[in-house]
Amino acid sequence: MSFVAEFNTLPMDALLRRVRSASTAAVRESMANGVVTLADFAHLISPAAGELLESIGQKSHALTQQRFGKVIRLFAPLYLSNECINNCKYCGFSRDNSILRVTLTVDDVLREARSLKAQGFRNILLVAGEHPKFVSGGYLAECVRALHDEFPSISLEVGPMETDEYRPVVQAGADGLVVYQETYDRSLYSDVHTAGPKRNFDWRLETAERAYAAGFRRLGIGALYGLADWRYEALCVAAHAEYLLRQCWKAQVTISLPRLRPCAGEFEPLTHMTDRELVQLVCAFRLMFPDVGLVLSTREPAKLRDGLIPLGITLMSAGSHTEPGGYTGAGKENVHQTVRGRIVDLASGASEWAPTHGHPTSATGQFEIADERSPQEVAELIRKLGYEPVWKDWDAALTA
Ligand code: SF4
Repeated sequence: MSFVAEFNTLPMDALLRRVRSASTAAVRESMANGVVTLADFAHLISPAAGELLESIGQKSHALTQQRFGKVIRLFAPLYLSNECINNCKYCGFSRDNSILRVTLTVDDVLREARSLKAQGFRNILLVAGEHPKFVSGGYLAECVRALHDEFPSISLEVGPMETDEYRPVVQAGADGLVVYQETYDRSLYSDVHTAGPKRNFDWRLETAERAYAAGFRRLGIGALYGLADWRYEALCVAAHAEYLLRQCWKAQVTISLPRLRPCAGEFEPLTHMTDRELVQLVCAFRLMFPDVGLVLSTREPAKLRDGLIPLGITLMSAGSHTEPGGYTGAGKENVHQTVRGRIVDLASGASEWAPTHGHPTSATGQFEIADERSPQEVAELIRKLGYEPVWKDWDAALTA
């Protein structure tokens, strides 16, 4: 049974009632359980659990240290392309946004990657908008092949594909696939995804399973907080992670907790999740999933990120750019503008294809980052907190 079938039968009303009506006694009971079920998780994310945040945090801290040691793994996103055929109201790369776009050549990608390597990174996340013409499986496989010798850990965050399309990318050396459902609320999902193949909720929800079937051994999931109620999303993410741990047991599962950031299109968050609630959610995920990697990006401000390190986070991005070519200026000569999906000449108005040769411009980023520290500054801070910054995730050579 796929997760879609299981998702459709989740008792969401009952779980949300548990969230709303939990007492602190019920929260304490759930905390004490050796195995934290989805029903216990509902207690841990309740308003009542917010009053017990200190003891939940202590437990989360102890569990994380027991399972992961005093280690924070660092990674960097490398944006390959910001072309996209979807309209997602909350994303700067949406097709109808009039922004500067580019797809990097494989040489550009290598240049960007080597700049990250020079900063220490050996674990990278290749990110791209969804545009089969520019970002095909063949292009992704070529990029991965070019990077594989120098980067032992390569993950992808790209438009969902068929299992057979993923296989060459895995064979080329990619081992991780990240796909956020954005929102698990079907009706809201259809409101915020106004055009393009991403409108297919079920197809996206089954992506991690197709990736696993193709051979990916690190699967990343998450919701984008700021769309539906965070507690609803968290319950769905927890159910999804539980399913993947059961059905895709050879894979490591990670959960990311991105909150909406300002971006082109100026979408306003529909809901709000406070910093304290984000802390609570990190701890609740840790208590339910002691061995799952929890990922925090540079969407969050430095102070909050520092505070979350001892509480359950195991993977962090650092020094991130969310525009293709952001680390070195690679691809600048091919930057072009699109208006409602059509390429226009930056200098002289509309035309079919108008690279901006010689224009001193760079592509538009997906969203604004909040922690602008360099990777070295982040690594230094991690050390100051008594943790070891680790620049790669795992090395296939060690498990061969
Ligand atoms: S969220 Fe992804 S699919 Fe949607 S517009 Fe942005 S890049 Fe495209």
